[in-house]
Amino acid sequence: MSQGKIVLLPFGRVLAEPGQLLESVYFPLSGFISLFTAVDERHSIEVGLIGNEGMVGSSLALGVDSSPVHALVQGPGKALQLEADVFETALGNSATLQRVMQRYLHVVLGNLAQAAACSRFHLVEARLARWLLMTQDRAHSPDFHLTHELLAHMLGVRRVGVTKAATALQQRRLIRYSRGDITVLDRTGLERASCTCYRADRALYEEILGSRQSRGKPLETELTPVSSPLRNSAKPIN
Ligand SMILES: [Zn+2]
Repeated sequence: MSQGKIVLLPFGRVLAEPGQLLESVYFPLSGFISLFTAVDERHSIEVGLIGNEGMVGSSLALGVDSSPVHALVQGPGKALQLEADVFETALGNSATLQRVMQRYLHVVLGNLAQAAACSRFHLVEARLARWLLMTQDRAHSPDFHLTHELLAHMLGVRRVGVTKAATALQQRRLIRYSRGDITVLDRTGLERASCTCYRADRALYEEILGSRQSRGKPLETELTPVSSPLRNSAKPIN
């Protein structure tokens, strides 16, 4: 009998909060979850995006039972949910799962460092292009919904800054943007408009968790739920 269950992740569901006990871990099968950190009551910035290539609750693999960041469902979908103690037991019983978790945490650390550098050095328009590409990868669709407010959170800028950057990308015919409904019209062009951080994140994932580390499959395949190295390692506990 499976020890995990498939749950719906509705828009706006909080999956983790700093300082609160992590009761479950989530392996998204669809949809996407935004990780953000608050600097004060009014300001927060997105530091990561989790889709079916990753998981929420990875701190447990470090022996810490709370998350350092907020995790909020931004793209509704489904996830495999495991109770924290079930996950910890599985981790204790599986050297393979431990190895993949260590490598995954290395990627997470690398992505956080990249996000810090990105927000300091790269222009808002290029950063918006990057987040839209990351979102498209996890939404598995060129069409998705992101509110103006969320985009401002993602980029750590005022809403007017988002409007300016989104309008610029739209005028270049790379995206269509209307009341939060986004369509990526020109993926290749958007990749060119993005800062180098998008490619750097993907390259790190490929290097640490990609084809050479798993079963010789390309990154695109690794981003699907059935072949995610994290999820495959989690299989024996089901
Ligand atoms: Zn950047």
